Amino acid sequence: LLMAYDPARRLAKLQVQLDRAVVNAQMIYALLDMQPAQREMAGAKDLVVDKARVELKNVVFSYGSGNPILRGVDLVAEGGQTTALVGPSGAGKSTIISLIPRFYDPAEGAILIDGQNIAEVTKSSLRHQLAYVSQQPYLFEGTIRDNIRYGRPEATDAEVEEAARLAYAHDFILAQPLGYETPVGENGMSLSGGQRQRLSIARALVRNAPILLLDEATSALDNESEAAVQKALDTAMRGRTVIVIAHRLSTVVKADKIIVMHEGRVMEEGTHEVLAQRKDGLYARLNNLQLPVRDLS
Ligand code: ATP
Repeated sequence: LLMAYDPARRLAKLQVQLDRAVVNAQMIYALLDMQPAQREMAGAKDLVVDKARVELKNVVFSYGSGNPILRGVDLVAEGGQTTALVGPSGAGKSTIISLIPRFYDPAEGAILIDGQNIAEVTKSSLRHQLAYVSQQPYLFEGTIRDNIRYGRPEATDAEVEEAARLAYAHDFILAQPLGYETPVGENGMSLSGGQRQRLSIARALVRNAPILLLDEATSALDNESEAAVQKALDTAMRGRTVIVIAHRLSTVVKADKIIVMHEGRVMEEGTHEVLAQRKDGLYARLNNLQLPVRDLS
């Protein structure tokens, strides 16, 4: 029985990973306005952003006709603050992130930005307010400059370089023989994991959007790259509304608010200090089991 079970389980897991990779790539395209959004309402108005406060109200969602994945989620990500989503695998964290650019629409409930239902605004105005940094940084065929400029096609060369500086990428770019004109992507030069991450952060920064959706990497980089990526992320997060799927204790501890998810519901919310005190709470238990975070040692 075990022998029959194991490969099937591995296959199921692989399938989920493949689905995720596709979703992530589609998210990137979606945020670059290359992917059609869910249908736009007739007479939709442009989203007007002030504080960039994001609110989910009783959001219910399932993929196709499958099991409900979000079972009535209420949460608020305050403007200019960092809200960390934590919880076991499958809790629905990535799903929440993919509803915000309207990659999918909730079956029930609503998502509001500064009080406006995102289903009722133009998709371009919605997506202009969003930037996304995924776990796997995608590089497209083209030069380093092109890859950063994907974040905002009308960005000037100076803006591209400023974003690269802020993402701690400028120096390693200049160290390439062709600098910003160096080809990357499948047939281009190979970049380290940390360099790819910093390019994707530069791409998000050049968008200069008030809301940053961040899927923190789970795989460790070497210490030096890790430090550079962390500094780049700190810059990207400053002054923005950040919703982060957090995998590091340092991110969770620093967050203004932690949302603890389990099986499509919000179980607890609060700061690290408060939640860690609730000894019978899910957060304290996850913390002890080292489930949501990897650098507890
Ligand atoms: P993880 O930490 O493992 O990424 P998560 O909390 O982000 O987990 P989700 O990725 O939102 O959880 O997944 C919640 C559930 O939805 C899981 O059961 C997952 O298999 C399923 N799921 C996710 N994406 C899809 C998809 N594109 N199609 C069908 N089911 C999906």
